[in-house]
Amino acid sequence: MLQLIHPLLQKVIQNLSPCLLCGIDHQQHYSLCTDCWQQLPWLKQTIQRQEMDIQVAFQYAYPVDRIIQKFKYEQQLHFQTLLAGSLIGLRLPKIQAIVPMPISHQRLAERGYNQSLLIAKILAKQLNIPVWQPVARRAQHSQKGLSRIERLDQIEQQFVIATKSKVRYRKVLMLDDVVTTGSSLHALKNSLQKLGCQQIYAACIAAADS
Ligand SMILES: [Zn+2]
Repeated sequence: MLQLIHPLLQKVIQNLSPCLLCGIDHQQHYSLCTDCWQQLPWLKQTIQRQEMDIQVAFQYAYPVDRIIQKFKYEQQLHFQTLLAGSLIGLRLPKIQAIVPMPISHQRLAERGYNQSLLIAKILAKQLNIPVWQPVARRAQHSQKGLSRIERLDQIEQQFVIATKSKVRYRKVLMLDDVVTTGSSLHALKNSLQKLGCQQIYAACIAAADS
């Protein structure tokens, strides 16, 4: 419905809408009021996981942890503007395409959407570049009882190249919602390297302790 309204009118409506977090003040920054926006657990840093540099907007702490959980598991998609907005503020490198973290068909069927893809689409539109999904992910099984090496091995095997197109991008940004150990990003990076990507960057909305 909102898409049908003139963008300017849409902006006015947005400014009159209450903040998604406090519900009191008007929306000023990607659906939050100024106070709520400033009080988020900002990190805005590059962190290292698995010998990769990962740009991160937030610490995985309240209320961002709750927001991501609601967005991911409770279909509260209205948080996507805020989550994508947090990444727009990072100094992202010059890239040709965004690669969202893939999820398995099984997860997609359960959830109905890939949360990283939704964020990637908003960011890609802002940056005026395509979303690229050349890698698929096989079923994600429980990793209970496995050793660290076995877990890493299993994650690497989940990622499979799944593109028949000849289109290749050399400089890409991998996008995920939460980074913990970084092993999924590492596995995705390996697949992208096999596809000939030369500069592979990573950005995540939030970083949890590994
Ligand atoms: Zn607020």
